[in-house]
Amino acid sequence: PHGRKLNFAAGPSALPLDVLQKAQSEMLNFNGTGISVMEMSHRSADFTEILTQAINNLQDLLDIPSNYKVLFVQGGGTGQFAAVAMNLMRLKPNHSADYFVTGTWSQKAAKEAEKYGKVNYVLPHTKQFKGVPHVNHWNLDNDASYIYYCANETVHGVEFQEPPSHNPDIPIVADMSSNILSKELDISKYGVIYFGAQKNVGPAGVTVVIIREDLLGRAMPSTPAVLDYKILAANNSLYNTPPCYGIYMCGLVFEWLKTHGGIETTAEKSNLKSSALYDIIDNSNEFYHCAVDKEHRSRMNVTFRIGGSNGNENLEKKFLEEAQNLHMIQLKGHRSVGGIRASLYNAVPVEHALKLADFMKDFQRRFG
Ligand code: PMP
Repeated sequence: PHGRKLNFAAGPSALPLDVLQKAQSEMLNFNGTGISVMEMSHRSADFTEILTQAINNLQDLLDIPSNYKVLFVQGGGTGQFAAVAMNLMRLKPNHSADYFVTGTWSQKAAKEAEKYGKVNYVLPHTKQFKGVPHVNHWNLDNDASYIYYCANETVHGVEFQEPPSHNPDIPIVADMSSNILSKELDISKYGVIYFGAQKNVGPAGVTVVIIREDLLGRAMPSTPAVLDYKILAANNSLYNTPPCYGIYMCGLVFEWLKTHGGIETTAEKSNLKSSALYDIIDNSNEFYHCAVDKEHRSRMNVTFRIGGSNGNENLEKKFLEEAQNLHMIQLKGHRSVGGIRASLYNAVPVEHALKLADFMKDFQRRFG
């Protein structure tokens, strides 16, 4: 309907149709105010209500304990690469942190953190990200201020099933930009969880930080006010003008998730969608090849090559063209790794994934 495509984009990515329609219906005149959310003061009663509702709904969805703050910030995931280090590197006297590098985004986060303290690389160096090495190969530091990992590597399609550490003395920081709200989480295991909105939650321009209260107020003195968790928390994300419209959109997505079964449903659907594709890959006799080990395959970003493990670029091009003709778009792998990537975030309906699966089968029948 509405000429809309089957959108498998990695981010910014598909949003629920219901949410877009609700935003459309409220665009010109929000709640009888006679103005749009984009045109209203961030300190007005209406916007305060939008912000409060968004926070409450996220707290409900994720069952966030009361000793955690929810912040809406700007600067994207990349802003958080710096913010995390500036706010937390000084928790312990060594000013060092443990980083799990399992793909592009944790690598960038570690590099950024090096500006603000010592970065201990927990995993052996690799250029080929295919999973998480066995715990026997980990080099954890007992004096680390925090342990950092990226729960889902969007480019390589590598996902952790569990947080990598259970040491209650060292807070865990997780980048959940590309898998938040797609499975049950025990928030109390984490010090900080953050996510850019533009994949599972809303439009680009808003980033959400969930932080345990005792970690506030430890930032290095040079931390910019807009990145300082304590300042943001003390002002309920209104220290300066927040990304108001983005917050409103996230709020609509949270509401939509709540009325559609919450995380239980998104988790179930994520499994259905991703296993539909992985099953085909695994039964394709290597016509389709996923480099990631089974235990760490992402349910959100299914990455694969066509025509063997190094990929046949002509076949991949043909695949993308044919998919496009069937209105399945944004399936091209990240420019750094090539191949195909199907992103299956919460707003991607199960039918879309099944349609892609059918196309993959048919494509192999004709070209395999
Ligand atoms: N972390 C992850 C897991 C990502 O996928 C991305 C962006 N794709 C980022 C961080 C960086 O986010 P941003 O572009 O909002 O800075």
